[in-house]
Amino acid sequence: MFEKFYPTFSFDKVEDIPYELFKKERITAVIFDMDNTLVNHKYKYNKNVKEWLKELKKKDIKICILSNSPKTNVVKKVGRELSMKYLYNAFKPWSFGFKKAMDLLDEKKENIIIIGDQLFTDIYGGNRFGIKTILVKPIEKKEFWGTRIKRPIERFIIKKYKANKKYSKENNK
Ligand SMILES: [Mg+2]
Repeated sequence: MFEKFYPTFSFDKVEDIPYELFKKERITAVIFDMDNTLVNHKYKYNKNVKEWLKELKKKDIKICILSNSPKTNVVKKVGRELSMKYLYNAFKPWSFGFKKAMDLLDEKKENIIIIGDQLFTDIYGGNRFGIKTILVKPIEKKEFWGTRIKRPIERFIIKKYKANKKYSKENNK
């Protein structure tokens, strides 16, 4: 019953995701959540993420940010610093933001994956839109209260997900 919240893969952090996974899954475009996936609450990213993204682009994989944040200037700044296209006010899990990202990336659904830290926006949204999903752990604990109250429910679902044999692939930690 929770399967619509289950990610296709899960990792501790973005930099842990092996590039071979994209090749194996025929992924040519990656959508990234921003807050707590790429940057912390001060909108800082670590240099490992920047390097990881740079390598990913060298492998001809298209990337963009799809953020629910209404902070236009912040999303623009992060996007520019990481040399990524960006969309804000995305209203994930609703599909229209995903559709916009798909148009921006100009790839088919089966070749797109989303990476994010929230089950109810990034993962559920990606699943209902029909793309693959990767769950990462939030970069830090300090969060907006609206996000914080959802975390215990997320932990419950993640426990179910990890206990489910069908989903415990070798890439899942
Ligand atoms: Mg997030």
